[in-house]
Amino acid sequence: MNKILIVEDEEAIANLIRINLQHAGYSCEVANDGNRGADMLAENSYDLCLFDIMLPGVNGYELLEYAKSLNMPVIFLSAKGETIDKVKGLRLGADDYIAKPFEIIELLARVENVLRRFHKVEQDIRIGDLEINVVARTVKKGGRDINLTIKEFDLLLLFMRNPDRALYREMIYEQVWDSPYMGDSRTVDLHVQRLRRKAGLEQQIESVYKVGYRFRSSVS
Ligand code: CA
Repeated sequence: MNKILIVEDEEAIANLIRINLQHAGYSCEVANDGNRGADMLAENSYDLCLFDIMLPGVNGYELLEYAKSLNMPVIFLSAKGETIDKVKGLRLGADDYIAKPFEIIELLARVENVLRRFHKVEQDIRIGDLEINVVARTVKKGGRDINLTIKEFDLLLLFMRNPDRALYREMIYEQVWDSPYMGDSRTVDLHVQRLRRKAGLEQQIESVYKVGYRFRSSVS
């Protein structure tokens, strides 16, 4: 399980991030000020750090330098529009930057991208009898191989990384097709239908009225 350190002084934001990352299968630790964050960096090893920039005590830039000296990837979190912060953060070696407020799905995507870049992504994700190997791009259900197209696989991966969360069609489209959503929901719906049928996920991938879809981690 990937271990992530969150240093953020706004507790509500820190908790929101922690809960969502834990839900997506990451192990998280939180510090609410920079000094505590630095202590935790000194005492533990993390696969990824998320640092707010303006912090009581040691600030995010200083934490970045420290984390980089320990070879830990860093994503900065900061208030929207602070362009100077962004440039400075990236110049100092941050691996990515997320402007607050952000969508959880964007946070998850960026976390995953940085982990992948640092070869820290877990190869296998298992939910119930469904098993997906991210590197080999294979899927098994109850031990049986399921053959999916590239987009069906990416769609299933998105669902398995966001279990029990209602995902908007727009977000699904932008994540899987990697282009702006122009309001044509048929592409997403068609692929979801095929994925359900091929992988026997009729129960597990639920339609959410006026939203999109939700992948249930367990089916009763
Ligand atoms: Ca702050």
